[in-house]
Amino acid sequence: MRPIPQRNARMLLIKNGRVLDPASKTDAKLDVLLDGDRIANVGANLSVDGAEVFDANGMIVAPGFIDLHCHLREPGQEMSETIETGSKSAARGGFTAVCCMPNTLPVNDSASVTRGIMERANATGSVRVWPIGAVSVGSKGEALAEIAGMKDAGIVAVSDDGKPVATARLMRQAMEYCDSLGLPVIDHCEDPSLFAGGVMREGPQSARLGLKGIPSESESICVGRDVEVVGLTKARLHIAHMSTRGSLEHVRSAKKQGLRVTCEVTPHHFTLIDQDVNYNTHYKMNPPLASSSDRDALIEGLADGSIDVIATDHAPHHAASKDVEFDRAPFGILGFETGLALGLSELVHRGKISLMRLVELFTTGPARVLGMERKIAAGQPGDITIFSTELKWTYRAADSPSKSRNTPFDGREFRGGPMATTVAGRLVYKR
Ligand SMILES: [Zn+2]
Ligand SMILES: [Zn+2]
Repeated sequence: MRPIPQRNARMLLIKNGRVLDPASKTDAKLDVLLDGDRIANVGANLSVDGAEVFDANGMIVAPGFIDLHCHLREPGQEMSETIETGSKSAARGGFTAVCCMPNTLPVNDSASVTRGIMERANATGSVRVWPIGAVSVGSKGEALAEIAGMKDAGIVAVSDDGKPVATARLMRQAMEYCDSLGLPVIDHCEDPSLFAGGVMREGPQSARLGLKGIPSESESICVGRDVEVVGLTKARLHIAHMSTRGSLEHVRSAKKQGLRVTCEVTPHHFTLIDQDVNYNTHYKMNPPLASSSDRDALIEGLADGSIDVIATDHAPHHAASKDVEFDRAPFGILGFETGLALGLSELVHRGKISLMRLVELFTTGPARVLGMERKIAAGQPGDITIFSTELKWTYRAADSPSKSRNTPFDGREFRGGPMATTVAGRLVYKR
């Protein structure tokens, strides 16, 4: 947990907002008082002498959003992003805490790398940074990494993201060990033999474009394997960036059996499909954009509770690395600043899910995966996300504090988006 930043002792009163709190099922016009680093009071018509006032009239006041999946690129790829620039972008997207994947240079597979990330986050971060450690040494899929040491240094989960956990045997060891430590194992699911150098989803569009396709079974076979291993271990498993109907069926069946399996989807997978892919490398991500049938299945899963979390998989890449042929470009796009707005436009405004459900997918959903609480109540951390459902705005990647610009959503017009973000009682972003 990030130590409390140095600040003058003062109070912030968030007035006249509509408080949406999934944990207590609160949906009411209430004021929220932040004192120091905590929430001090929640009630109607609060007035406090000497408090700074934020007028949230017409806005939603929600528990602080958590992004369970991002890449901050530090250490090692500071050309693309740093903890400072990435966490500023996160604050602007309404996130109060972000979990950064371990595929940095070096890989976060030891307590010393974890400590380095925590130190940089404390010195330069705008939001809380919760590192995810590697499952295996160097994420090479051979021996388990120094997981207990990394836990003491601050990791909240483990993953070999960028790659799947290499074998069922390693997955079994990781699950059994991590369960005793209280850490979830997060898997990036793909079958390398089916993935085989593909660059987009296999189907009519990949054939039309002449690009090498990846069948959807590359993902679902690995999800199926992992669910089987959970059957064996009875431990916890979280599926990263799930993108296909087949994978969702495995997760549904696991949940029906009472297994502790959770999953996330990204905003780009519930918004875009393979038909949107052309030769623009800002549409190249892993897993690739799926079919419209897969996208519809994900939206159903978000609505019916089979999907637990929306996570951005914010994956910055320096402009030069994406400015190449589609085949050679790295996978991944920016995510922090468009995630909430895509959720509002694609899911809430289209009547697919309720506003409360959207808030849950960004707050209590990810918190539950991490074994934490997330709610607006006296004594809780002063982490609050304030947003509008109606504000008309245009996303301009050029205005982002991120070091990278790799997004297919540049210039997109949105209805609704982040208005202000507080972390530990401090305003870290205000539109
Ligand atoms: Zn991944
Ligand atoms: Zn990732």
